[in-house]
Amino acid sequence: MRRDILYDKIPTSAFIPIMKKRRSFIPVSEPDLSGNEEKYLLSCVRSSWISSKGEFIDSFEKSFAEFVGVKHCVLTSSGTSSLHLVLQALGVGKGDEVIVPDLTFIATANTVWYTGATPILVDVEGATWNIDPDKIVEKITKKTKAIIVVHLYGHPADMGRILPIARQHKLHIIEDAAESHGAQVKTKKTWKKVGSIGQAGCFSFYGNKIITTGEGGAVVTSNKKLADSMRMLRDHGQLPGKRYYHEVIGFNYRMTNMQAAVGLAQLERIEEFINKKRQIAAWYTKYLKDVTGITLPQEASWAKSVYWIYSILVHKPYEHTSKQLMEELQKNRIDSRPFFYPLHMLPPYKTRESFSVSNSLFQQGISLPSGTSLTHIDIQRITDVIIKHAS
Ligand SMILES: *Cc1c(COP(=O)(O)O)cnc(C)c1O
Repeated sequence: MRRDILYDKIPTSAFIPIMKKRRSFIPVSEPDLSGNEEKYLLSCVRSSWISSKGEFIDSFEKSFAEFVGVKHCVLTSSGTSSLHLVLQALGVGKGDEVIVPDLTFIATANTVWYTGATPILVDVEGATWNIDPDKIVEKITKKTKAIIVVHLYGHPADMGRILPIARQHKLHIIEDAAESHGAQVKTKKTWKKVGSIGQAGCFSFYGNKIITTGEGGAVVTSNKKLADSMRMLRDHGQLPGKRYYHEVIGFNYRMTNMQAAVGLAQLERIEEFINKKRQIAAWYTKYLKDVTGITLPQEASWAKSVYWIYSILVHKPYEHTSKQLMEELQKNRIDSRPFFYPLHMLPPYKTRESFSVSNSLFQQGISLPSGTSLTHIDIQRITDVIIKHAS
């Protein structure tokens, strides 16, 4: 292959007009890599520290732990591997049950299966769209070992009500914070970032998350024993300082220095990204709050949402269904997403049990464009379509 020709065709500067032209199409999200990402990445390549050791791994782990407000951060290859890693390190396995919300991305429940344990689905609540604390209690059995709470679409789950339940039944709490880096919860008058409230918090750095490393993830915890155990399991179960001596069966769940380089550059701008997400939410709210048949996402008094993806519910008396509105947006070159299929509707988790709240959220929900490069004018264009379509 003539590499020179291939690369000559795409000089870096050509990306800029492409980006500008694309403005007419509004995607649901796109990463902003315009900070130190290129510089840090280049330094990995130039120094040849491209694998899973290097200075960016160490500094990203340290800085991310500090950001969340915990003692330890273990970087991983994905949000999914971070969930599996912590379950494994907590000793969850065959014969155990782990409680998960019915409305979430499928990885939350899949990682429970990876350990040999059984995920137990619990319906969500209408106010936060997160796991319903009252319904958790009904599902606790002698086999229950842990609860994975998910902070969906950037809004925290009701930790103030979930913590006492976990304490009373001696259950681990793992926070799936893959969509909510920087979101906060008020418990006992102090604000805490999500991921710092349970035994451990899991994050994803996939391309559309609050910050990205391309693919990647992290588990944070203040429990040193748990962190050490996860570091060992992440690295094939090898004992630190004893090469090729494997204490247990582990995994290769390591992140590369190149991914961490991008992650560190992203983390430098996380407050800016979160502020922009909240600004976008405020714009949407301003234009949509009086449209009948549209329910906007609520922010609980004890929560600070990061509005990862601004999502609305479409229902009567709005003139059209959520599906029809998505089609109308598409016609206007505006992308949108349906909600996650509730897990009980998917073949691997099919049950006859009814989950009325997650069902209706799924029927009515739409996620709107929420990328940090959106402008006030973009939001006006999107909300105009929604308002015009109302009558
Ligand atoms: C994205 C996501 C994950 C999985 O993260 P990956 O990095 O894609 O493996 C898990 N849980 C939730 C709620 C997510 O949104």
